[in-house]
Amino acid sequence: MLVNMKRSATPEEISHVIERIKECGFQAHVVQGEERTIIGAVGSSGRRSEIEALRAAPGVAEVIQISHPFKLVSRQLREACTIVDVGGVKVGGGDLVVIAGPCSVESHDQLLETARAVKAAGANMLRGGAYKPRTSPYDFQGLGVEALRFLEEASKETGLPIVTEVMSEADVEVVAEYADMLQVGARNMQNFSLLRKLATVPKPILLKRGPSATVKEWLLAAEYLLAGGNANVVLCERGIKTFETATRNTLDLAAVALVKELSHLPVLADPSHGTGLRSLIAPMSKAAAAAGADGLIVEVHPCPERALSDGPQSLDLPGFETLMKELGKTSVRDVKAA
Ligand code: PEP
Ligand code: MN
Repeated sequence: MLVNMKRSATPEEISHVIERIKECGFQAHVVQGEERTIIGAVGSSGRRSEIEALRAAPGVAEVIQISHPFKLVSRQLREACTIVDVGGVKVGGGDLVVIAGPCSVESHDQLLETARAVKAAGANMLRGGAYKPRTSPYDFQGLGVEALRFLEEASKETGLPIVTEVMSEADVEVVAEYADMLQVGARNMQNFSLLRKLATVPKPILLKRGPSATVKEWLLAAEYLLAGGNANVVLCERGIKTFETATRNTLDLAAVALVKELSHLPVLADPSHGTGLRSLIAPMSKAAAAAGADGLIVEVHPCPERALSDGPQSLDLPGFETLMKELGKTSVRDVKAA
């Protein structure tokens, strides 16, 4: 980080900043310009937030960050791509992984029918919400443990690993018992106590990007999981809030490409939540793959018009089969063997 001193800064003010930088665990490198002094805080183990607070010190004009605040998720720390093993499916290993299933698990038959169809079309994992974060408290909230049991049955029959959302700390244990990968929903991306708890769970985590989170905030949320001991983290871009209202969210594919540069973690794209529109799922799936996404998570329902949540952004079963053909994933492919 760089501390730019004001032109009017006194020698005492400059010395004070140098002292504080050292106290915070950094080396201080002073560049004496003709008009002003710039002091670099160099090192990787110092206390960054205290350097940021030097903005308030006398004689300081500004504090500029020149390196990223995240460490463990950074590609600077680990150059090789992380491959996350989810029940035998490798995410980040080069194959485009497709996770498919209903937004919500609504019934035994709805889930089993979907699971069989997405498996036959070549999906690698099954998704389905048991605990649903709904904008309105009057909307369907999910079947809870009953849905987890249906997911378990569908997984046993099809061999597909299960991805399902955990909304609260209280549900972590029960969801971890059934899920192969626990999803942190967009609304919970900065629920730091939930993240801390999930860091101790011996299962992979799918961390969705918050609707109004910057890439830095998203990666810092992932940093909580790695810093707490869980290195098996998969990121998911699911669209952000912008001024555009023609789509439900704006699927930020630049962020997918950027995060692949900044981090070694695998990144998925969610074209269902990212657009809100069924007709855009196929084009945005292809665009996400072209941008470097390691996989997709797509909502699929046997009868989207009857879905209890997110029907308009769900493919029907033939629609999913067509998508898989268009993606070149035409047959049941056992990624476990890859
Ligand atoms: C979901 O996957 O159904 C979901 C609620 O996603 P998000 O948290 O991205 O809105
Ligand atoms: Mn949904």
